[in-house]
Amino acid sequence: HPRRPTLDAMIRAAVDAGPDHTALVCGDTRLSFAALDRAISACAAALIGHGLSRGDRVAILLENTPEFMIATLGAIRAGCVAVPMNVRQAPRETAYILSQCGAAVLVCEATNATPVPAPVDMPGIRLTLTAKDGGFARFCDAADPDTVFPETAEEDCVCLLYTSGTTGRPKGARLTNLGMVHSTMGFHTTFSLTEKDVAILAVPGSHVTGLLAILFTMVTCGGTSVLMNRFTAREFLQLAEREGMSYTLMVPAMYNLCLLDPDLRGFDLTRWRIAGFGGAPMPPSSIAKMAEVLPGAALCNAYGATETTSPASILPPGLFRDHPRSVGLPLPYADIRVVGEGDRPQPPGEVGEILIGGPMVVAGYWDNPEADAKEFDAEGRWRSGDLGYYDAEGFLHVVDRRKDIVNRGGYKIYCIEVESILQQFDGVLEAAVVAAPDPVLGEKVVAFIHTAGATIDLEALRAHARANLSSYKVLDRVILSDDPLPRNANGKIVKADLRDRLPADAATA
Ligand code: ATP
Repeated sequence: HPRRPTLDAMIRAAVDAGPDHTALVCGDTRLSFAALDRAISACAAALIGHGLSRGDRVAILLENTPEFMIATLGAIRAGCVAVPMNVRQAPRETAYILSQCGAAVLVCEATNATPVPAPVDMPGIRLTLTAKDGGFARFCDAADPDTVFPETAEEDCVCLLYTSGTTGRPKGARLTNLGMVHSTMGFHTTFSLTEKDVAILAVPGSHVTGLLAILFTMVTCGGTSVLMNRFTAREFLQLAEREGMSYTLMVPAMYNLCLLDPDLRGFDLTRWRIAGFGGAPMPPSSIAKMAEVLPGAALCNAYGATETTSPASILPPGLFRDHPRSVGLPLPYADIRVVGEGDRPQPPGEVGEILIGGPMVVAGYWDNPEADAKEFDAEGRWRSGDLGYYDAEGFLHVVDRRKDIVNRGGYKIYCIEVESILQQFDGVLEAAVVAAPDPVLGEKVVAFIHTAGATIDLEALRAHARANLSSYKVLDRVILSDDPLPRNANGKIVKADLRDRLPADAATA
């Protein structure tokens, strides 16, 4: 096999090292590395047999299932660009992504829970493969076993992950082989992961955390991934005990839910050694409780984003007690700068914007030069929109953010996107979305609406939002304002004033 530093070469090496070892567990299904490898090759061969060639986009809208792994890695082995999408997104969002990246193939579940756009709304799609009725499996079975796979280069984009943005339109971050190799090896070395480790995928596999921190990290070190859908704390804890989970990485809201389980102490979680979290800050009360309830599991904070192919800094095991508020140390290859005016580096202790460079930073966005120019500096460093500082010992801290989002349990909801959907509703004159604190999720979504006297049907407004937005972009609370929303001299809505107006019970409503 070729041994270039590509994701696929790392997977083939893990297959060679332990063909009979379990790669994936999903319900009662267990797939060995050899079986997974054969399925990936069959999928890749079928795509090539169908006329797809290097760089073509293959979109994937599947839950956390073996088919998700097979389709994603099959597309990559075929030299195509895999485009995993969130099953909770609205058909309108799916249609936009499919056309923005010009996808030729869509692999989906085709169930009521994961609707796809009508065929007329995805004109570029030449082939739709559905997993639930066996269509995807039949497609793979018919592949020519002698197919030769193209080699991809280190700097090739092999995966697009769409993130929302300041424009409200999703942007396709271009993940490269180089980024994936660094990201997975960053996790391997920091957490000492080997083929003996068992990780639970509790977050969506289509999100950078699930894809990189769990699935690709485990499949490249020869370890086992246990897939779960629709997280509940109870099922997670049962699965962790049954499978002897040693590692996971999930968002703080999921830890908060586990800590609320009254029987938490009754589970045998003695093999759990790495409790990674990222995507949002962890409340101090949860940190203290984790240490008490799970003394054997090292809490490790990971800071990163889709644009950094997951982690840029990690707080290694054992350092949490001394650095409870830090997001850790930059990975050895990461160039993380805290900058002020004119992108000049700030001295330790001074807050500035966090800029992230290095081989794991994505190669910009798919067909979006405007966003590239805005969100990356001239050397390709990503402007995170996060505010932070380095302390005197060189540990990085994230203190606030510049970007206008609600971080709802790790899901980033760009206010502008929700606002523009609300403004389309008849009678809504002004809409502004702000975050309200929430004890479990971290933040919740509150929408302020001004109608200039028109009466609107709030239930119909909520239904309009549900129909047009991903199901995780929830309107937790809608507040009608009799007066126009507060604006500054430039006519911009002053969100700080709206936050001050949040009723005391906003967090619980
Ligand atoms: P990660 O892969 O590290 O979990 P993520 O999955 O949340 O990041 P995105 O959805 O792209 O990736 O969101 C990235 C943003 O999430 C960051 O810019 C930052 O605002 C926030 N974030 C990520 N990790 C942390 C963390 N450990 N502490 C605080 N905020 C974080």
